[in-house]
Amino acid sequence: MSEGNVLARFPAPPGEGRPLADLCRELYRGQLLTWREFAEAYAALQAVWIRELQAGGERFVVQFNPGREASTAADLDPAALAARPCFLCPDRLPREQAAVLYREEYLILCNPRPIFSPHFTVSARAHRPQDLAGGIEDLLALAKDLAPDLNVFYNGPDCGASAPDHLHFQVYPRGGLPVDRRLAEAAKDMGAFSLACLSLAGREAVVLAGTEAGDLAGGVRALLAALGRVRGGEGEGMVNCLGGYYGRGWVLAVFPRRRGRPGAYYLAGEGRRVISPGSVEMGGMVITVHEGDFAALDEGTLLGIYEDVALEAPLVREAAAAVRGVLRGA
Ligand SMILES: [Zn+2]
Repeated sequence: MSEGNVLARFPAPPGEGRPLADLCRELYRGQLLTWREFAEAYAALQAVWIRELQAGGERFVVQFNPGREASTAADLDPAALAARPCFLCPDRLPREQAAVLYREEYLILCNPRPIFSPHFTVSARAHRPQDLAGGIEDLLALAKDLAPDLNVFYNGPDCGASAPDHLHFQVYPRGGLPVDRRLAEAAKDMGAFSLACLSLAGREAVVLAGTEAGDLAGGVRALLAALGRVRGGEGEGMVNCLGGYYGRGWVLAVFPRRRGRPGAYYLAGEGRRVISPGSVEMGGMVITVHEGDFAALDEGTLLGIYEDVALEAPLVREAAAAVRGVLRGA
């Protein structure tokens, strides 16, 4: 990306400061005028089909968005990732793509395959892998800088990220996901710091809330480590994470995962459902890229998909209890 495509910097030099959300809105309006592919994608988003679905006593939104096919069906095999040009690296971005430079380290970009209006990707300038433990402070700063209208999410490797090899977050309008209502409730009761399990249809989340960034970051890192232990694997454990800054502090929901794609993704024929759950799905909105999947998705299939990809609730609760024990002892 050339210097000329950086439309604004945040934070700005003293005296010139404007809220980050304003700079993002300006970027979004500008790109609608200067980047045809993006304008067409947003026009298509205005016309996508949406329906509601009740499952497990919860309201879900199902979106038919064929523009997401490349992301939903991305080849995530490590060899395929290594062989393809990384589409988030600054020198490979489309010529028309503009950015807000965020804290020198990230480019805020309009997502050319949007689920929301607006929908931004916040991409590290350097090519390095998705890593929530390493990036959590940046996610928290971003959430605070974008409040109160915008929230942030993170898709871990094999948890919905189509570029797991390039660190990035995504930004969506607060209230755009059904689970946001639960986050707002948690924000109302916010104390100095809390970590609690939240049982949702087919999946268990861990909600962290608090007024100090250090507590949130420490809580998330301890949770990732505990999830790694209960799963018996290496590394941070598979997760999605979403949330925002609500007046006095942050509320984050972490969705521990056990699988990237559900069994239905790999079926042949009629039963196949091309759905790759990420934060958006864990938050209660399901993106379908084929009309047949959009029409056929029912309560049983939806709950089956969540049960396939979400880490079993007893293991999530075990990890959360371990973190509470560590934090009490600290
Ligand atoms: Zn890259």
